[in-house]
Amino acid sequence: MQGNRSKDTKPELAVRRILHASGLRYRVHVCPEPSLRRTADIVFPRQRVAVFIDGCFWHGCEAHGGRQTKANPEYWASKRARNAARDVDTTRSLTVAGWQVLRFWEHEAPQDVASQITEIVRASTGGAADH
Ligand SMILES: [Zn+2]
Repeated sequence: MQGNRSKDTKPELAVRRILHASGLRYRVHVCPEPSLRRTADIVFPRQRVAVFIDGCFWHGCEAHGGRQTKANPEYWASKRARNAARDVDTTRSLTVAGWQVLRFWEHEAPQDVASQITEIVRASTGGAADH
């Protein structure tokens, strides 16, 4: 029942498995723009699509992130606020650099997340561009 780890969370792995099965190739936990020094969870370098799957607890989703913690509620509230601000900043910086940024919550159904990603990545490939 714990699992506030930010890397290789179960929902993220499930999404990656579906993407891979659909034939998409991507990189994981890399910086889309080295100068920004922010790591995205799933990156499609050629299509310039960066995907983030945010943990409900750390990033404060409406459904689960507001959950009170007994110890140091103020500490957690400000930590989430900082994370949220950083998320917004990352999205903006990447968008400015020409990336499409997709953000999902870890509570979203992996199948839904994967199909949205697939749709956007396929659209970004520009149809008959390669082959
Ligand atoms: Zn949630």
